[in-house]
Amino acid sequence: MKFSWRVLVLWTLPALVIGFFFWQGAFANAPADMGKNAANTRMTYGRFLEYLDADRVTSVDLYEGGRTAIVEAIDPDIENRIQRWRVDLPISAPELISKLKEKQISFDAHPMRNDGAIWGLLGNLVFPILLITGLFFLFRRSSNLPGGPGQAMNFGKSRARFQMEAKTGVKFDDVAGIEEAKEELQEVVTFLKQPERFTAVGARIPKGVLLVGPPGTGKTLLAKAIAGEAGVPFFSISGSEFVEMFVGVGASRVRDLFKKAKDNAPCIIFIDEIDAVGRQRGAGIGGGNDEREQTLNQLLTEMDGFEGNTGIIIIAATNRPDVLDAALLRPGRFDRQVTVDAPDVKGRLEILQVHARNKKLDPTVSLEAISRRTPGFTGADLANLLNEAAILTARRRKEAITLREIDDAVDRVVAGMEGTPLVDSKSKRLIAYHEIGHALVGTLLKDHDPVQKVTLIPRGQAQGLTWFTPNEEQGLISRSQLKARITGALGGRAAEEVIFGSAEVTTGAGGDLQQVTGMARQMVTRFGMSDLGPLSLESQQGEVFLGRDWTTRSEYSEAIASRIDAQVRVIVEECYEHAKKIMREHRTVTDRIVDLLVEKETIDGEEFRQIVAEYTDVPEKQQYVPQL
Ligand code: ADP
Ligand code: MG
Ligand code: ZN
Repeated sequence: MKFSWRVLVLWTLPALVIGFFFWQGAFANAPADMGKNAANTRMTYGRFLEYLDADRVTSVDLYEGGRTAIVEAIDPDIENRIQRWRVDLPISAPELISKLKEKQISFDAHPMRNDGAIWGLLGNLVFPILLITGLFFLFRRSSNLPGGPGQAMNFGKSRARFQMEAKTGVKFDDVAGIEEAKEELQEVVTFLKQPERFTAVGARIPKGVLLVGPPGTGKTLLAKAIAGEAGVPFFSISGSEFVEMFVGVGASRVRDLFKKAKDNAPCIIFIDEIDAVGRQRGAGIGGGNDEREQTLNQLLTEMDGFEGNTGIIIIAATNRPDVLDAALLRPGRFDRQVTVDAPDVKGRLEILQVHARNKKLDPTVSLEAISRRTPGFTGADLANLLNEAAILTARRRKEAITLREIDDAVDRVVAGMEGTPLVDSKSKRLIAYHEIGHALVGTLLKDHDPVQKVTLIPRGQAQGLTWFTPNEEQGLISRSQLKARITGALGGRAAEEVIFGSAEVTTGAGGDLQQVTGMARQMVTRFGMSDLGPLSLESQQGEVFLGRDWTTRSEYSEAIASRIDAQVRVIVEECYEHAKKIMREHRTVTDRIVDLLVEKETIDGEEFRQIVAEYTDVPEKQQYVPQL
């Protein structure tokens, strides 16, 4: 760190001003000018009037412009000796003077000392000055780059950034839908509660458990539940908080954390986002990062530094185990990995049950149907979903959460905020045709997911939306399912072209086309579903800046690259022709449903299928769809 005089001066000045303020403040309140007459005991104004009436008062000296008086009077309690009291007078007591005159008591007024006024004036000025200087510094600080004067002052203080919870209050019951992970971690609870059971037979208690999974799946919750079940304190810190501007700060935080933990053993240390600090050393663009590496080294040293049975278990969470430094995963460190994945349909139901415990649900609400409608939702998404539904219920002043609120909440979580629908116009009709295109093509293809509803109410970026219900868990997806999806996604553009002609097609299909191209490309390069044969030509796209292999190179030649492009085109064109054919052959029903949609703005899947069935054969399996 660079020492700078400017920093010193800039910070001493306000300190002096504050100091001065306090110093003068301490004296300004005392009637410093009472001199020898100062009295220790006080008397109330009322008592003073009583004494006056009883003719006990002998003399009165007024100070501070008549706000304080030193009163000499005969005290009946101490053998009628003359005593002095201090009396605070009310601001307006003009009758007092006349009374004193009337009783012929000697009184005197003492002027205020002039410098008192000056102090007062200064005192009034100090606060605005302080405020202005403060604002000035705040402004300077925020306009500086990190490492400027403001930051520099924090250096070395090593404020404890970790949190400690003596009791997390979370139990395994609060974590649902991730049974395997829970079972694996049950053991850790036993380690913490009865370590002797393991040490007696010479077993080494694991020091570290790595929870791997996408955000929101309940990793933090699980770690807290372990602490809660075992009844031990929970220390938590996020990996990103270790990484600081200054070399050495992160390492000292690690030391602090482990020291605190040792004092409180048995306990759990939870390191969230460990990939922020535990990434492969020497990797990344621009070489290594000294600070991070030192922090990581310190972490490794600390983990080696305590014996297995001190009762500290470190739980770390990440969603990128592949980028972690190999040293972290060695035996004796994070040698246990527990995968925490997004829940399946049964898991989602259990999570919904946990979060519905403290909510008032209408008896008609079927949590099962919700869990079927929300594939890919994590525990956090589901918790958020029920909360949104509860908020909507309160806003609509209903007694209990009904299906409608949940339905709206799902839409909102998936597609964003609801907008206001367009008024009837040409563009509204065009959007209607586009959406009906998706819905109709999707309904008439055997391998497509059934339509759940079509709506012209805008949400997020979309002007209209067609929702499909994935009617089973998306495990393996077949080639014909993928093609059906591509065709369905092209249905919108196909409808625009068939109805309005190729000159009138709109930008509304941009998102669809992006999806379509992505799916078709993956069919060719990853799933071997084209004439190029069963080859894996590209690995899943990784983030360039984060991974250890930031040079994700394509594994094929130029010649193959152009063949890939050609195959992608073949797939997309074939599907597009198919979609256009469907639209051309179903013009009558399309027009009828569009009229209905423009009028009603939302059509649900069941009604949609009924209308379509009047004109044509809807694939049978789609007749029986769980309706929400
Ligand atoms: P992560 O740490 O994996 O990102 P969190 O543990 O922070 O996820 O989860 C956030 C919230 O989501 C939790 O506080 C909880 O309310 C809810 N949640 C997530 N997963 C589950 C689950 N499996 N069971 C119950 N609630 C969950
Ligand atoms: Mg978390
Ligand atoms: Zn579309």
